[in-house]
Amino acid sequence: MTKQLLILGGGTGGVIVANRLRRMDPELAITMIEPSPVHTYQPGLLFVPFGKGTVEEFQRPLERQLHSGVKLLQTKVESVDINAHTVATTSGDTLRYDVLVVATGATLLPEETDGLLGEGWGKNAFTFYDPAGSAALAKAMDSFASGRLVVNVIDMPIKCPVAPLEFSFLAEAFFTDRHVRDQVDITYVTPLDSAFTKPVASARLGRLMEERGIKVIPSFNTGQVDESGNRLISYDGQEVHYDLLVSVPLHGGAPYVSNSPGLGDEINFIPTDEATLQSLVAPEVFVIGDAAGLSVSKAGSVAHFEGEVITKNILAFLAGKPLPARFDGHANCFIETGHRKALLIDFNTSIEPLPGHFPGPFGLPLLKESWLNHLGKLAFETMYWHALLPGISIPLIGPEMPTRGKGSLAVTEL
Ligand SMILES: Cc1cc2nc3c(=O)[nH]c(=O)nc-3n(C[C@H](O)[C@H](O)[C@H](O)COP(=O)(O)OP(=O)(O)OC[C@H]3O[C@@H](n4cnc5c(N)ncnc54)[C@H](O)[C@@H]3O)c2cc1C
Repeated sequence: MTKQLLILGGGTGGVIVANRLRRMDPELAITMIEPSPVHTYQPGLLFVPFGKGTVEEFQRPLERQLHSGVKLLQTKVESVDINAHTVATTSGDTLRYDVLVVATGATLLPEETDGLLGEGWGKNAFTFYDPAGSAALAKAMDSFASGRLVVNVIDMPIKCPVAPLEFSFLAEAFFTDRHVRDQVDITYVTPLDSAFTKPVASARLGRLMEERGIKVIPSFNTGQVDESGNRLISYDGQEVHYDLLVSVPLHGGAPYVSNSPGLGDEINFIPTDEATLQSLVAPEVFVIGDAAGLSVSKAGSVAHFEGEVITKNILAFLAGKPLPARFDGHANCFIETGHRKALLIDFNTSIEPLPGHFPGPFGLPLLKESWLNHLGKLAFETMYWHALLPGISIPLIGPEMPTRGKGSLAVTEL
């Protein structure tokens, strides 16, 4: 009997898995459940507030991103029964699966922070982490010419942990180009004890923030947003005033996970094996991307690398064989630093981002601002639509982190 593979979510991870498996096993019946008719290139949302593109320019019809033979159901998952191997949808259907791929990403939870969705939301408090917020923030940025801009990460984990840093750098360049930089104070408020999670990259990024006059307030755990007084208030009583707030809200897994007994953890992410990407809750459930409760970064590059591993393991599982592929946590990020420059970092679960070159000795410079890296960031969108999503492997840029071309450096040497 034809095996039924059900994919929940048609974002980066879901589309990659669907297209890869379609090529690898044309006999497999593949169904995807996704409510949105469009697929959004989320890294583009960083640029919209600075007038560099509209949300619509970063969106394409989802159906056109899927290889023929992948069935798309435009509806939402209501719940999963991991014992009966069924998924219920909000349209009232129940679908059976032999293998389930959870690819429903991370959900923004602004309502979980006291006061964030108060009267200032959409007036002088925004997020660029979803399409509507990013478009609304573009208007606010356009008319902001003096005062204090605060970029605040409420808590980890968040998707693309470098995006709020990139926003701060791009804001610095934006106000400089508009000749109002001396009238705008930019402050980055983070729960981490420094600018970023990885010590080597953090030291370099922290120094860059200092050079650009961006103030960093570390170890600030936002407990409340006082929107009438335009203040962030931390759990331990510290306060930060803002005129324009750019918030990265709390993240959790998709809400249906809490209606699905045994599927998720307390914040609705799915416990998953770091190496095989098989869930720890049921052998026929696999997880890709931000939905997984893993220690790796929540990033599109990670979902891309995971796609190569998870598809091999799913086919082995269906054939009753041991899972052959292992993921090392490889992540790769361009970090826009403004003024047409960017840094590139490449790392995995056990190796920090290091200086050198990627993907080999003659490649792009790592941990170093360069115009080439900025071009790489812009070119990445074309690669996303034409190689990553269609499931085409990119030579030299695979799941295993390359070590050729990399140096080593102690944090104190930076
Ligand atoms: C502003 C911003 C900038 C970023 N920049 C970068 C970058 O430069 N580099 C990088 O690598 N990553 C970046 N990312 C992160 C990257 O976009 C995500 O990590 C990536 O999209 C994760 O893929 P995913 O498939 O796990 O989740 P997503 O792509 O978010 O897809 C999840 C899908 O699940 C669907 N879904 C949710 N609930 C249900 C339900 N109940 N039923 C059915 N479907 C459902 C959603 O509609 C969505 O389509 C950025 C993200 C943001 C927000």
